[in-house]
Order: sequence, then structure tokens, then C-alpha cells
Amino acid sequence: MSEVLFVTGGSGFIGSALIRHLLNSTDYQIVNIDKLTYAAAPEALAVASKHSRYRFYQLDINDLDAITKLFAAYRPVGVFHLAAESHVDRSIQSASPFIQSNIVGTFNLLESCRNYFAGLTASCKKAFKFVHVSTDEVYGDLPISAPAAAEGAPYHPSSPYSASKAASDHLVQAWARTYGLPAIITHCTNNYGPHQYPEKLIPLLVQRALKLEPLPIYGDGLQIRDWLYVDDHVQALLQVFQRGKPGESYNIAGDQPLTNLAVAHAICNLIPTLNLPTALRYRSDQLKSLITHVADRPGHDRRYALNNNKIKTEIGWVPQVRFEEGLARTITAVYEGLTTIR
Ligand code: NAD
Repeated sequence: MSEVLFVTGGSGFIGSALIRHLLNSTDYQIVNIDKLTYAAAPEALAVASKHSRYRFYQLDINDLDAITKLFAAYRPVGVFHLAAESHVDRSIQSASPFIQSNIVGTFNLLESCRNYFAGLTASCKKAFKFVHVSTDEVYGDLPISAPAAAEGAPYHPSSPYSASKAASDHLVQAWARTYGLPAIITHCTNNYGPHQYPEKLIPLLVQRALKLEPLPIYGDGLQIRDWLYVDDHVQALLQVFQRGKPGESYNIAGDQPLTNLAVAHAICNLIPTLNLPTALRYRSDQLKSLITHVADRPGHDRRYALNNNKIKTEIGWVPQVRFEEGLARTITAVYEGLTTIR
């Protein structure tokens, strides 16, 4: 029987890409723990769900008893923790689910994990790792002239979402320091790719552009995000698990900073060049005329930027997928999913 890895939030956008990658490129048995919120994309695991090395448990990470039983039953060699509420706008509307899943949920997961870890033999302890997937947003708004945030930069979260992620990072750091849990924290920039819930910028704009609907852009659209293709991200996560040092954190950046407006323009320019049905062969100027500036998000950060030298030099990971290439794959996936999409 192969060794087991737990993935929390494995039915989400990034978690499902991670599970596909782990099944395709390793021999691990994968246990996916996900409560299946509105954001889950079970269709992204249609093939994986038939795999003999895949198990799924529909569970809230706050269900301490059930998670504790899973640790005892499967005896994993590692945990990738991705389960979280992840949309900033929703956190502004109602922060409670973010506090519950991102902070209290991480606390409960850490507690069952540390109890399990305490009972391991010395050699199993040495092999075990807990990888906590966090975000660039914990570092907060960076002025244009400021250098990109390196690991160890001070935390300045702006939204309820980023504050809840920052709090969960602190819990992970405390459990590592106090209880010796071999934890690693990763901070990534904005992900994009297939199977992302269409409330996030890129799938939202693509879906609307394909239906010739208005393309909403917050404020002046000059907010800068660094875009990371999801397959690059999950490769980084596996490499961090394999080669990262417990107690350390690693930034994972796509090295492709763009304003939101530039992202919208890229989508409008790319759609006409793709091999889509004749009915969808819109002109780029026709699509750009749909761009509509709407009232800005409260507390909207202008710029995030991560320095990813550490993961490049210490782990040997570099992003592979250029933005136009990843965007073309994403547009095609959104188009193919439009008939079935939620
Ligand atoms: P997502 O919203 O697509 O998926 C989250 C998954 O977690 C869903 O399947 C949901 O059902 C599950 N979940 C939520 N609360 C849960 C709970 N209490 N118990 C069990 N499962 C629960 O999110 P994503 O974009 O895949 O992000 C995954 C992780 O990466 C999150 O921790 C997020 O903060 C982080 N992250 C995402 C991005 C990005 O651009 N998407 C960037 C930086 C960091």
C-alpha cells in the first residue's frame, strides 16, 4: 500500500489541480477532505474520482472527531491544507464563514494533526510535513515603488479574507514552534486556470465576454496582481513538500504582474484568435466596448507583488506557463464548461 497524503479543500479550484497532479506524477494515495461549498468543482475530479489511489470524504475541517479518525485510519505522511473560504467580496459581505473555516477550521485541523503527529515514531515524524497554502494578500497593499514582498515581510492584511488567512498563518507558525509540527507555509499570487468558480476575475470576464455581457472592472482597473497558472502552482506545492524545510515559508509567484484592465484587454484580444465556433468569433474592439468600470471594492488593495527568489534558488521551481498560453487554455476550458457550468 502506498503512502497517504491528505488534501483539504481538494474539490476546490487549486486543490483539484493538486490532486490531479499528485495522482499523475506520484504514487501517493490521496485522501481529499472537502465539505463541498458553493465554490467546489467536483467535475474537476471526474477522472480522479475513479482512481484506485483516491478517496473522498465530504467533511468540514471543523469536525474534529471525524478528522481525528481519518488521521488514525490513514496515517498520512503529509497534509496539504487548502480548505478555505477564498473570495474577498464575499468576506466583505459576511466575514463569519471566513472566520469559521479559515481560522477556527485551521485551528481544529492543527489540533487533530498535532495529536496524530505526537504518536508517530521518530522516523515517521522526520518524514511528516504539513503544507499550509496561504496568499500574497497577507502582506497587504504595496506602493508601486516598493520592492516585492519577500518571506518574512510584515503582515498588513486589508480584507476580512486576508485577515483570516493571516490569522491561520500565525496559528500554523505557533503550532510549528510550540508543538514542533513540521509545517511549511506557502504564499502564492493570484491563480488562474480551468475550473475556477466564475466569481473570480478571469473566469468571470471570460464567461461574460463569451456571452457578450458587460465586463465589470472595479474602479480605474489599475490594481496590479501577479498571475500564476494553477498547474505551475501545484507543481510548486509538490516540490515544496518534497524539498522544503519545515518551519520555513516560500513565496510562489507567477512573475506576470498585470493591471486588472490589462487582463480584461488580454481576454478581449485573445478570444478572437482562438478556434471557437463561428457564432463566438467576436472582434476584440467589440469585446473591449463591453468593459464597464463599476464602483471600487471597499479597502481594495492597489498592488500585490511577491519576491520568489527563495523558491527558485532553494527548491529549483520556476513558473513555466506564460500568461497568454495559460489564458488561452482557461478561455477554452470556460467555453467547454459553459453548457454545464454552475
Ligand atoms: P476555492 O474556493 O476554489 O476552494 C476551496 C475549497 O475548500 C472548496 O472546495 C470548499 O468546498 C472547501 N472548503 C471551504 N471551507 C471548508 C471547510 N470548512 N472544510 C472543508 N472544506 C472546506 O479556493 P482555491 O482558489 O482553490 O484556493 C485554495 C487555497 O489557496 C485557499 O486556502 C486560498 O486561500 C489559497 N489561495 C488561493 C489563491 C487563488 O488565486 N485562488 C491565491 C492565493 C491563495
